[in-house]
Amino acid sequence: MKLEIDQQGLLAELETLAAFSDAEPPAVTRIVFTPTDLKARAWMIARCEEARLAVRQDAIGNIFARWNGADPEAPAVGTGSHIDAIPNAGKYDGVVGVLGGLEAIRALQQSGFRPKNSIELLVFVTEEPTRFGIGCLGSRMLSGTLSADAAGKLKDRDGESVDEVRRKAGLNGNLQDVRLPTGYYKGFVELHIEQGPLLERAKTSLGIVKSIAAPASLRISIEGSGGHAGGVLMPDRKDALCAAAELILAIENTARASGAPDTVATVGVCDVFPGAVNSIPSRVGIALDIRDTDLARRDRAMQAIERASQEITAKRQVSIQSELLNADAPADCAPEVRAALAESCRQHGFPFLEMVSRAYHDSLFVSRIAPTGMLFIPCRNGYSHRPDEYASPEDIARGALVLAEALAKLSA
Ligand SMILES: [Zn+2]
Repeated sequence: MKLEIDQQGLLAELETLAAFSDAEPPAVTRIVFTPTDLKARAWMIARCEEARLAVRQDAIGNIFARWNGADPEAPAVGTGSHIDAIPNAGKYDGVVGVLGGLEAIRALQQSGFRPKNSIELLVFVTEEPTRFGIGCLGSRMLSGTLSADAAGKLKDRDGESVDEVRRKAGLNGNLQDVRLPTGYYKGFVELHIEQGPLLERAKTSLGIVKSIAAPASLRISIEGSGGHAGGVLMPDRKDALCAAAELILAIENTARASGAPDTVATVGVCDVFPGAVNSIPSRVGIALDIRDTDLARRDRAMQAIERASQEITAKRQVSIQSELLNADAPADCAPEVRAALAESCRQHGFPFLEMVSRAYHDSLFVSRIAPTGMLFIPCRNGYSHRPDEYASPEDIARGALVLAEALAKLSA
């Protein structure tokens, strides 16, 4: 089997897709189900049909493009990623896995290879949380991680529900049917840019993911008591922001002390009320994102943060309430998928790094229902989710080639 990736053609498609954007180039903004996104989706479907794939969309808008195998009843081998983009993003996040996946299928078709298991390209809908506040909506529903009822009721900033928005986009099926039956996929591989600097630093063009870290996020509200910045003397204060500051440092210390570099904790939001220079902060809202590759270790860190918050409550006479927004479990990648990727790399003499995915992806949710793996390619300086995100044509083509080999192995 001689596989040839059309690097020029793949790059041209990447540029064309990047032009479906609500931001000035090189920035890309493509929020799910906006007119721009709908045009991009239609263009994507046309490319799949051009490759003679059988295309279907489910009720939430996941797009499936299937190359039927010799045994069409056997579980399929899947690949894919997403094409929605956060505001002011770049051209590569997600897109490399979708267009690279399509090119991998075309290369296999042209090589004369005939799969036993069908090979299916999956374009996940709304991977980014921009519109509905939750990431990976499509894959959460496919895997049954999020129920159809709960998903349909999620609202965007204009108060429109997922159910209303997807119907306006012409998707009228039953949301209950989105969940895939068990055994639907024999294996699944997602090609993606690393979104971190490790491959570039190691001067290695390919990364095979061992495990995908997953976040828990919490909204924490700290209530103290306000007052005049001149009138209330220090011994009488219950400053909510000082309590928050202590808690934020405790969170940082907890992550540092976990004993593993994979534990990371971030407070990225801090709202201070009333927010006046001469007024003691009476209320503060912070948001915590804590991630790990090991669920038990992440849980221990969360318990340590809870203890710290009780101590701060007692010491500073404030009240601290926390609300768990989500707590997805991390996932290990499937040995058989990792082996198929590793063998493909070795076959071509490509060195690779075994690594952890620090960002989470649709693959995290697919891994709940199918043996799943991920293949990373480098991105310049590790930049992602910004207009200067960049992956080289050679790295993209190499990724598509290794992906194609792996899909062939898994579907033979
Ligand atoms: Zn992505």
